[in-house]
Amino acid sequence: MNERIGFIGLGIMGTPMSRHLLNAGFQVTVWNRTPARARPLVEAGAGQGKSPADVAARSDIIITMVGDSSDVEEVIARKNGVIEGAKRGSAVIDMSTISPVTSRMLALKLAEKGVQMLDAPVTGGSAGAQNATLSILVGGDKATYERCLPVFQKLGKNITLVGPNGAGHTAKLANQILVAGCMSGIAEAMVFAKKAGLDLGVWFEAVKNGAGTSWHLTTQGPKVLDGDFSAGYMVKHHRKDLRLIQETAHEMGVPLPVASAVLQLYRALQSMGGDELGHQALVKVYESLARVEARR
Ligand code: NAP
Repeated sequence: MNERIGFIGLGIMGTPMSRHLLNAGFQVTVWNRTPARARPLVEAGAGQGKSPADVAARSDIIITMVGDSSDVEEVIARKNGVIEGAKRGSAVIDMSTISPVTSRMLALKLAEKGVQMLDAPVTGGSAGAQNATLSILVGGDKATYERCLPVFQKLGKNITLVGPNGAGHTAKLANQILVAGCMSGIAEAMVFAKKAGLDLGVWFEAVKNGAGTSWHLTTQGPKVLDGDFSAGYMVKHHRKDLRLIQETAHEMGVPLPVASAVLQLYRALQSMGGDELGHQALVKVYESLARVEARR
C-alpha cells in the first residue's frame, strides 16, 4: 500500500472503486469535475485535489474513470491535466471505455515525460464496481501491469493483461458487441413473448436457466419486467461504446451487422429522451415499435 493513488472521475463507477482503494489502506487523493460528488470520499478520509494536475503531483499511480475519449484527453492532456503534474516514474491507468487510438496517443505523450500508461477498462457493471468483482482488461507493458496489480486486485477478480497499449480498450469494445447482442436479444424476445400473450414473469422463470440465458438476462431482465429503468450503465455510455466500435471497425473494414443495428436503436432511444436511463431501457424502442409493454 506504499503507492499513493490519485482518482479522477467519481461517477457511478469511480465512487465505489475509489472507496475500495481507500478502505484497503491506500492513501487516495480524489478529484471530480462536479466537486460535490467528491465530498463523501473526502469525509471518508481521501485527500481532495484542486485539479487533475494537482492529483497527479500528489500521487504515484493516477486512475481516470470518466466518459468518452475527449473526456480522458481533457483530464490527462489539456490545461491543468494529469500530464502537467505527473512525476517521472509515475503511472497513469485509464479505466474508462474509450478509443484505443486515443489511448495509444496519450500513452505516447505520457511516455515523453517518463510516465507509463495502462488502459484498463472494466466489465461487470455498477454491481461489479460496488462488490469489487470487476473483470479488468489491461493494455500496456508487463512491468507496469505488475506494479499496478495490487491496485487492480482491490477492484476486481478477473484481471488480464491482454496486450500492449490500446489492447485493453479493443478487448472492451469487443465485449460491448457481446453486450449489444444480449441486450437487443432480450428486448426483442420479451416484446415478442408479450405481444403473443404470454405472462412474462412465467416466461422469464421458464427460460432463465436454459440455453438462451446470459448475465444480462438474469440481471437486466427482471428490471425490465418491473419497469426499473434506473441507470447502472447509462444509455449514453453504451451509445458511445457502439460509436467507438463502429469507428474501429471502419478502420479495419470489418462488417458488424448486429452492433450497427443496435447503435441505431440506442440513437432512437436517445431521441426519445432516454440517454440517462439504464441500458436495459433499450426495450422501450422495441415496445414503441410493437405497441406493447414488456412488463410482468
Ligand atoms: P458516470 O456516472 O456518467 O460518471 C462519469 C464521471 O466522469 C463523472 O464523475 C463526471 O464528472 C466525469 N467526467 C465526464 N466527463 C468529464 C470531463 N470532460 N472532465 C472531467 N470529468 C468528466 O459514468 P460511469 O457509469 O461511472 O462510467 C465511467 C466510465 O466507465 C465510462 O467510460 C463508461 O463507459 C465506463 N463503464 C461504465 C460501466 C457502468 O456499468 N456504469 C461499466 C463499465 C464501464 P461530473 O460528476 O462532473 O459529471
